[in-house]
Amino acid sequence: MPRILVVAPNWIGDALMAQPLLGRLHEKIPDLQLDVVAPEWVAPVVRRMPEVGDVFAVPLRHGALQLRERWRFGRSLRGRGYRQAIVLPNTWKAALVPFFADIPLRSGYVGESRYGLLNLLYKKDAAAMPLHYARLSEPPGKQVKEPLPTPRLRAVPHEIEATKRRFGLPARYVALCPGAEYGPAKRWPYFPELSERLPDPVVILGSANDVEAAAGIRGTNLVGKTTLDEAINLLAGAALVVSNDSGLMHIAAALGRPQIALFGSSSPLHTPPLSAAARVLWLRLECSPCFARDCPLGHFRCMREMTVETVIKEIQNLGT
Ligand code: SF4
Repeated sequence: MPRILVVAPNWIGDALMAQPLLGRLHEKIPDLQLDVVAPEWVAPVVRRMPEVGDVFAVPLRHGALQLRERWRFGRSLRGRGYRQAIVLPNTWKAALVPFFADIPLRSGYVGESRYGLLNLLYKKDAAAMPLHYARLSEPPGKQVKEPLPTPRLRAVPHEIEATKRRFGLPARYVALCPGAEYGPAKRWPYFPELSERLPDPVVILGSANDVEAAAGIRGTNLVGKTTLDEAINLLAGAALVVSNDSGLMHIAAALGRPQIALFGSSSPLHTPPLSAAARVLWLRLECSPCFARDCPLGHFRCMREMTVETVIKEIQNLGT
């Protein structure tokens, strides 16, 4: 059985943007065993990907080198028979584990000058997601056949119902996700006003970092109170999801939920929600996308001028 090890990105959204690559590898290689190394905070998402066999959740910290830990972990993978490793993050340290594991073919973008650590290198390109990652399924320079497989996550109905019961939620609700880990320039400021206008009960989801972004929103506030697995189940059970461009947006897309995705400083041309059930709002200002964490111009028009009325109209168009 051919075996490939993939080193997942450090962001949930990017991990989902990489899923079409995993699907394409399965299409190309019969009986493939595809295992993934992922940071602990991304692993719950990867475990729900049907393309993935074993998931190695590693307690590596954002930005830390942790050379000894990576060496030990890489050594522990020797003997598993991987013929190739595909390294998705661009950092030097992300390429260390496959190198220490003695995996013969180690591919990825040049990134931080990873000559030697990787031995099949791809030059950076302007390809949008998910093509950027999917290119790694072909030799450098060869075109990728489209359409690509779309991201999809497993969600089990009785687990969804059990999670809803655990938090005392009604059968029908709208999930609002006001956070965006990347920074304030991606956060729409009118979730509180929107929550007052929605006829359905509201559930607010996000990580402990989103507590401030959730302030003032009317509804059952579960921000920072769920595990990522529980949040995924609650998104899977929602009648509608409204979010910024965030990890939860990509999860809702992979679950096929009806959703409205609000884009400010980033671009839906670059990291769209990959779902036919998604609608995107983006004002396309001349300064957008700037990809900044905070508005460099100070006016934040890309989000401030996206009115509650516009979002309500889009929800009505979606007809949930
Ligand atoms: S510069 Fe433009 S796109 Fe960037 S955050 Fe400010 S208003 Fe938004």
